Amino acid sequence: MSDSARLAQLLFPHITQTPAQLMEQVYPPRELPEGAVVTRFAPSPTGFMHIGNVFTSLVAERAAHLSGGRVILRIEDTDKKREVEGGAELIVRGLSDFGIYFDEGVLPGGEQGAYGPYRQSMRAELYHVFCKDLVERGLAYPCFCTEDELAEYRARQEQAGVTPGYWGEYAEKCRSRSYDEIKALVDAGKPYVVRLRSPGKPGGRVKLRDVIRGEIEMEENFIDVVLLKSDGIPTYHFAHVVDDTLMRVTQVIRGEEWVASAPIHLQLFWLCGLKTPKYAHVSPLMKEDGGAKRKLSKRKDPEAAVSYFSEQGYPASAVTEYLLTIANSGFEDWRRQNREAPCSEFPFSLKKMSLSGALFDLVKLQSVSAEVISRMTAEEVCESVLAWAKEYDADLYARLSADKSFAAGIFAIDRGGKKPRKDIAKWSDVRGYASYFFDDMLTRESADTLPDGETRRAILQAYLEVLDAADDKDTWFEKIRGLCAPLGFCPDVKQYKESPEQYRGHVGDVSAVIRMALTGRLNTPDLHAITALLGQERCLARIKDYMEKEC
Ligand code: GLU
Repeated sequence: MSDSARLAQLLFPHITQTPAQLMEQVYPPRELPEGAVVTRFAPSPTGFMHIGNVFTSLVAERAAHLSGGRVILRIEDTDKKREVEGGAELIVRGLSDFGIYFDEGVLPGGEQGAYGPYRQSMRAELYHVFCKDLVERGLAYPCFCTEDELAEYRARQEQAGVTPGYWGEYAEKCRSRSYDEIKALVDAGKPYVVRLRSPGKPGGRVKLRDVIRGEIEMEENFIDVVLLKSDGIPTYHFAHVVDDTLMRVTQVIRGEEWVASAPIHLQLFWLCGLKTPKYAHVSPLMKEDGGAKRKLSKRKDPEAAVSYFSEQGYPASAVTEYLLTIANSGFEDWRRQNREAPCSEFPFSLKKMSLSGALFDLVKLQSVSAEVISRMTAEEVCESVLAWAKEYDADLYARLSADKSFAAGIFAIDRGGKKPRKDIAKWSDVRGYASYFFDDMLTRESADTLPDGETRRAILQAYLEVLDAADDKDTWFEKIRGLCAPLGFCPDVKQYKESPEQYRGHVGDVSAVIRMALTGRLNTPDLHAITALLGQERCLARIKDYMEKEC
């Protein structure tokens, strides 16, 4: 037996399988159609969900499903220092709330799929199989250097002005240990990490072909990076290679911050004798700040947190629609041509993603969201508002749930039809939007564009005599037109415009007074529908109240 084979046995006596056996017998190739993309979203459960996570996972989900492939949700919980209790559940629930659907992995109902386990903390043995193989082939070795020794190397490297890390002459100590030396240290219980014996050289070049960014040439890796930490847990680099291989991932879609480590990953795939997946590095979401673009920041921008969107009451479907808008610039054109289509039908393309980072803009999100909400049915809006208010606005919830058909009526006004209104961009707008439907919330805005008090009184007096909240729209409008002539107003706007000097105003001015009396506003959705929903009693009371107080 060679020294390296004895070393592999010494370090991993519990491992009996080989990578090839695992790949043939336990994690065989998937049976999928040609060209199907298998990808994954692989968050670390840090307890904070960035909207960028939703963006990247949506991109991964689209890429997989549009190709007839599969998308996996893998939890990368190897960094116990950064892990937060319940962090994984937060992500799983969060993504499912956004309607981002995974085929396998850690799902809301538990783990699912034949390529698991899908939490890295449960996969220790698998990493050891691959690590043992590298040790056996002389491509990895145990390193017993202490923190102090590593710090000393770093200081020397800093002084010499060379790349910091375990490499070259700085790696000699553990690289060159004999089997007997290592055995003595292991037997003495000395802690060690397992490092890659990198064949790279400073100045060597490597090429990464990125699906989004094209070809990137970088310096090759020459550092003896850590593969397994002293507790036997892998580093991200090694776990990525093993997991994406065993899960039969064909495309690694991940944040741009990983481009710099790609030379390590390419080298690991090569040394392990594995097929390298394709890479697509997604640029971070950006924010405009004082004319310049910067990354959307967890520290500075409340909208970086996913919780912001649920608190504000943006429908998840509006957020994902907006994210697709900024993922591919062709989305908006497509939406204009396919108004009713589900966004899953949009032909999303990784290749068309921005390299400099998509701008995340709340104003634009609001307009997309208002558009999405305008396409919902009254029932959908009502249900969503109730669900949101239950959690975030108890008073609104109580008001709406006290009379659900009245609530549904509020949201039915001006819904459907060719040009639906877009007054609601998020559920927290509903309180302001709907306040005048509740007597105790009715306030009247000041309006100096209305006729004088005496005229207003005369208009309303006349209207009180004919008002019937049960009138159909035509009858209702005819009645309002009928008020005009006796009071010196023109019943027809066009006619008024031809000779305005003959009138005190037109039918629009008359209805503005009625609108103000009934709703306290100059601008509302369809006044006839509002009148019908408020009902006779309330309308009469509101008009009288207005005449008493403000005419
Ligand atoms: N756990 C890594 C992260 O949260 C995942 C990177 C990857 O997708 O490979 O950034």
